[in-house]
Order: sequence, then structure tokens, then C-alpha cells
Amino acid sequence: MNSNNDVIDDSRIVIEDDRIVSIGACSEPVGNALPAEELEHAKTLNARGKLIIPGLINAHTHNIYYLMRGLGMEFELLGWLKKAMWPCLSEMNAEEAYIGALLGYAENIKNGNTSVMDNFYMSRRNKANADSIAEAACKSGLRVGLVRGCHDVQGMIPLEFIEPPEEAAEEYERLIATWHGKNDGKISVWLSPVNLLYSSEKAIETLKSLMDKHLVGLHTHVAEAKREVEMIEERFGMGYIEVLDRFGIVGSKFHAAHAVWLSDREIDILAERGATVIHNPASNMLLASGIAPVSKMIARGVNVALGTDSPNNSQDMIESMKLAMLLQRVGLLDPQAMSPSTVLKMATRAGAQALGLEGSLGSIEPGKLADIVIINSDVIHNLPVYDHVTNLVLSGKCSDVETVIIGGEVVMENRVLKTIDEAGLIKEVKRVARDLSARALSRLGG
Ligand SMILES: [Zn+2]
Repeated sequence: MNSNNDVIDDSRIVIEDDRIVSIGACSEPVGNALPAEELEHAKTLNARGKLIIPGLINAHTHNIYYLMRGLGMEFELLGWLKKAMWPCLSEMNAEEAYIGALLGYAENIKNGNTSVMDNFYMSRRNKANADSIAEAACKSGLRVGLVRGCHDVQGMIPLEFIEPPEEAAEEYERLIATWHGKNDGKISVWLSPVNLLYSSEKAIETLKSLMDKHLVGLHTHVAEAKREVEMIEERFGMGYIEVLDRFGIVGSKFHAAHAVWLSDREIDILAERGATVIHNPASNMLLASGIAPVSKMIARGVNVALGTDSPNNSQDMIESMKLAMLLQRVGLLDPQAMSPSTVLKMATRAGAQALGLEGSLGSIEPGKLADIVIINSDVIHNLPVYDHVTNLVLSGKCSDVETVIIGGEVVMENRVLKTIDEAGLIKEVKRVARDLSARALSRLGG
């Protein structure tokens, strides 16, 4: 995924500390890249016959929602929130948040995702759930954007998720001081008015001043369902992006998740400002939200990254790449509407740009961070291989991911997680999920 999209055969990658130091032919002595005394202590992973790709970047998901995997699947967005997510989130305690987040992080690693933008919020009673999620992120070894959400407009969502802007700002200050840059820089804190629908102008102004003060980014849901766009239009007389742009928020540190129903004017603003759209094809299909105009946005110069989101039930970025490509083709009735290499770029380099890390992530090149995934491509469903990228996107399965390296640390080797006790986690997830859903159900009954 370098700027030439080179596919390099017969190569070996040398990693020192958290960086890639060289890429050379297997026949070339490793001693050319590493001094003898360092070579002695080096760990060698044999990836002969396998495919090595940059770590995939899951640019929009909600890991703790995965503790509610499969609930409320018969609803559109608002019904799913009301009947499943909100009752569970209001009951969720710190232990459940930790286990839910770890479940999500483990799944991301197993699927070859090395960076995750993790959007969450919690009841006002349980603000420390954010710290549980951050602890799980550190434990996993993943590169995680902790995207802490806030709402302050009353009327549409349960009162316990509402907090005045000053209270949210205080919490952001605390989270930034505690977690931003932690775990060797793998953890970052992001601001998130979950949706402009639930945010006042005062809240947006407060968040903008935090962006300026701490140079942190802002990640929000934009124009996901058609009805939301009508409600924003009724309230402001213009579209989501036009409103947010008036506050000076739309720039290179701005993420618009979904962007299914944008006007051409809004697409042009996103392109001009160097902002990122995060496309979530599985979620858009599951909630019957619509087909985001991804091909058009890319053609107009918008950086479009890819996410699994949570109403999806799978944090599989290989599947999301395939769905993104197929959805554009069927939506535009054009087999050339999107190519495998475009969706792979969305899942790697565009994701890196979204994180402001295009110089450090998104491709395998000397000097970049060693976020690397080894995939077993010698399997029946992948053979023969005429083009690696086409096969990865259209035939690849997340279970083909064998080994995952993040910042030089091997976090999964031959499908065995190194940072998380998988068997223990499975037991814990089953225990807390049963209890949490029962409490949520009795809350709904009342
Ligand atoms: Zn979302």
C-alpha cells in the first residue's frame, strides 16, 4: 500500500522496536539490515507462502455494543437504540464495560484490525465506564481512539445520557489528562457529540474550544438515516455538514461517520476541508439506512475510510471491504464503480489519514510503525491467486488472519491471542451478558 501500490514478492521485513526498518529480498542476508548482536536476539516469523498486509484500520465501531450482539435486529436505527442499546447501556457497570470492550478488541485483533476508533457513551451515573474501556484498550495492545460520546439536548433520548456541556467538557479534560498518548502513544482521546441531533449549539462551541486547546479530533454520526437529515433541516435550515462547518469544526481532524444522505454542497465542503467520511456498509444495509455516495465522494476528493460499526454483528473489515465494493456497484449499476484496490486503500491508507497518522501507518514501508498482519493465503477458498488484492477483498475470510503485529508487538501468533486470555474472556462474556440483558429487559418491562 505504498504510493505505487506495489505488491512485493519474495521479501522479508525487518522490524526494530515499534518501526519497520527495512524491506528486502529473502535471499539478502538479514545482517545487511540488523547488526549481528541484535540479530542474535531477534524473533523470526516465517511467513513463506503467505500474504503480509498493513494492519486494517476499523475507523468506526462501538465495542461495548458487542456485548449486546444480535439484540434488536428487527428495527431501524431509532428502534434499535430504544429497544436494545439504551436499556443495556443504562444498566452497564464498569466490569461489564471492561469485558464488553475487551470482547470487541479481541475480535478486532483476530480479524486483522490493528487500529480501532471506538465510540462509546454511558449513563451519567457510570462515567468511570470510560476508564474501564481505556484499561481494556491498553490490555489488548490495539491502537485505539477512545471516542467518548456526549449528548445534551433533551427530549429524544433517556435523561440519564444527557449531560450539560460543562460537565462533558470536564470529563473530556480528565480523560485527555489520564489516557491521551498512553500505552506508547497507542491510545488517543477523541471528542464526540454522538449526533448533532442531540447536541446544542453551546455543546458544539464547547467541543470546538477543546479541539483547539488540546489539538484533539472530533468524531460524530452524520446523515445516517433520511429522517435525521429532515430533522436537522427543520432545526437549522441546512444540512449537517453546513451546520458543523459554521462552527469551524470541519477540518482534517473531523470524522463524519456514515454520510449516507449528504448534498453535493456538503460533499464539497468535506473535500475542501480535508475531512474524513467513514463508510459503514454492513450497518447501513442492516438498518436499511441507504447507500452512501462513496464513489462520488472519493471522486470529489473526500478521504473515505471504512468501519464495521456495531449494528453489523461482526467486526470483520475484510467483509466490510467486500460489502463496500458490492454496494457501490449495485447502487450505481456499474461494475467499475469501485475496485478491490480502492476498498483496500479505504481500510488502510485512508484510515491512517483519518487518524492523522498517514506518515506512520497505512502501508508497509521503512520508517513506518510496524502494524502488520500475516494472512494465510494458501487455502482452498483463496486459490488460485492471479491478483492478491482481488482475492483478499473478494475471497478472503477473517479466519485466514494468522498473526498480528501492532507497533512491533506480536499480539496474535498463529491465531493465539498473546495479550488476552481468550478462554477466560469467553467465560466472562457469557456470564455478564446474561445478567446485563436480564436487567435491561426488566427495565424495559417497567
Ligand atoms: Zn456508529
